[in-house]
Amino acid sequence: MKQFILFMMLASTLGACAQSNKESSKKNAITENGSITPIQLSPEEWKAKLTSEEYYVLREQGTERAFTGKYWDNKEKGTYLCAACQLPLFQSKTKFKSGSGWPSFYEPINDTNVATEKDTSLGMVRTEVHCARCGGHLGHVFLDGPKPTGLRYCINSVSLSFEKEE
Ligand code: FE
Repeated sequence: MKQFILFMMLASTLGACAQSNKESSKKNAITENGSITPIQLSPEEWKAKLTSEEYYVLREQGTERAFTGKYWDNKEKGTYLCAACQLPLFQSKTKFKSGSGWPSFYEPINDTNVATEKDTSLGMVRTEVHCARCGGHLGHVFLDGPKPTGLRYCINSVSLSFEKEE
C-alpha cells in the first residue's frame, strides 16, 4: 500500500512538471505569432471566467466524453468560436461527420487563429490543437480526415461557442 501511495505521488509530480513545461512552451509559441495579440491570464483569472468543465478542457487539456457535447451533431450553418476568448476558429462548411462523437473539421478558419503543438501525453504522439490567442486547448488533429486536406480536427464542444449564420 505504501509503495502504491508513493507511486501515485511520484506520478502526480511528474504529471505536474509535464504540464508546466507544456504551458510555458505554448506561451512562447503564441508570443511569436505577431498577427495575434495573446491573452494571458493566471489560472485564478481563468477559473473566474470559465465553468469548471471549460477550465478542465481548455486550461488542463481535458477531453469531454464522446457524444455528450453540444456540437458533435450540430448541422447548422455558422462559425465556431473559442469558448474562452471568442476568436473565430472553424466554419460549419468544413465540419464533417466523423463518427467520433466530437465536432470534426477538415480545416481551420485560417492559418493564424488555430495553432498546433506536439503532444506526447498518455503514451501517444499526437498533435494538440489550441486557440492561437488565449492558448485554450481545443482537441487534436489527425491525418485520417476527408478531402481536400486529409486532416481531421477533433475538437471538444466545451472549447467552442457557436455563432449561427443569419
Ligand atoms: Fe481563445
